[in-house]
Amino acid sequence: MAGRTDENIPTYEVANVNTKKIHVGSFGHLWRQNLSSCELSLAEVSGVDLEDEELATELDCTADIATEIKSLCSVDALKSNEDGEEADPEIIPEDSCLVTLSIRNKIIERRKEMAVDRAFRQEVFLHEMESCGLGARPEDLSDMVDEGELVLTLEVFHPVVYQKSNGNKPNVAIQVLGTQKLTELRDAIKCVSDLQIGGEFSSNPDLAPENICKDLFKSAFFYFEGVFYNDMRYPECRDLSSTIIGWSESHDRGYGKFQSAKMEDFTFNDLNIKIGFPYLYCHQGDCEHIVTIVDIRLIHHEDCLDRRLYPLYVRKHWFCTRKCNVCNIYVAKWVTNQDSLAPDDPCFFCDVCFKMLHYDTEGNKLGDFLAYVYVDHGTFN
Ligand SMILES: [Zn+2]
Ligand SMILES: [Zn+2]
Repeated sequence: MAGRTDENIPTYEVANVNTKKIHVGSFGHLWRQNLSSCELSLAEVSGVDLEDEELATELDCTADIATEIKSLCSVDALKSNEDGEEADPEIIPEDSCLVTLSIRNKIIERRKEMAVDRAFRQEVFLHEMESCGLGARPEDLSDMVDEGELVLTLEVFHPVVYQKSNGNKPNVAIQVLGTQKLTELRDAIKCVSDLQIGGEFSSNPDLAPENICKDLFKSAFFYFEGVFYNDMRYPECRDLSSTIIGWSESHDRGYGKFQSAKMEDFTFNDLNIKIGFPYLYCHQGDCEHIVTIVDIRLIHHEDCLDRRLYPLYVRKHWFCTRKCNVCNIYVAKWVTNQDSLAPDDPCFFCDVCFKMLHYDTEGNKLGDFLAYVYVDHGTFN
């Protein structure tokens, strides 16, 4: 029994990269077994204020040292003005001794020299996202996250490696609860390939179908530790993993035996995973995203406690939107190839400019070109 317990305590397989395989639910169980109910409690805590003597006993030091530690660690020590008055948080005092403030000052100075405010926009965006879930409690208590619930943080990478980026920038970081189904994460992962509309529409741009790829091709799978978890919720779903399993079994390729299972039957607690190890999410046939579980921990009373807000985005990559090549104001909705009217191939247009340039007042096509619906990466910003 002891051996089985140890198996689920994460230890490094490759130092500072990934752990050995653990069973997520058993790992959570070990924590709950070893922690007291007050440590697991999600009740709101009103600041615990120990008396100096109590603190001295807790820390095993003299009362004088305890008093000093208390004043050094108090919230007041973080205030930048001496008298602790409420000052305008936007104004950074010049004589502040806080390192964080001098770093902040430098960033603001550097930003003033920059022509574009892109970095600033991204910062506001990140801040908004971080604060939207923080400490949220549900109005209806039945939506409350249970005590001792596990929170997994996953990084889902964007499938395309852009030349500009360093190639390993995670697209999003998402928190999920241990008791949530894999399908809940699947539905939360946003990718432009789900929004594509297939086909060439230069002859009848107004007839571009409403149906996006997500509605047409519903198959997808996650791959974790030798098991393909296929989304089979709808009758039209196909087992995308069968080709891979067939390929692997057709010769002895040294991958061992792969298994396939239904995504909707499994929660994160049911999984066997290595923390930090790159796994796979595949949808739309060949849109492949690396998925890494970077952290597993117990829920804390300061976390978002509203179950309905999970899977919760905690970090997202900001994509620059592609503007229309004509007006340079609106986001591109169309892309053309072999366009006799355009200076570039491919060339991007907003809906208004596209139709104004390519069709007469009766809606007849002018010139030769191929037109496709374009979905911008910035759609999810
Ligand atoms: Zn994708
Ligand atoms: Zn335009």
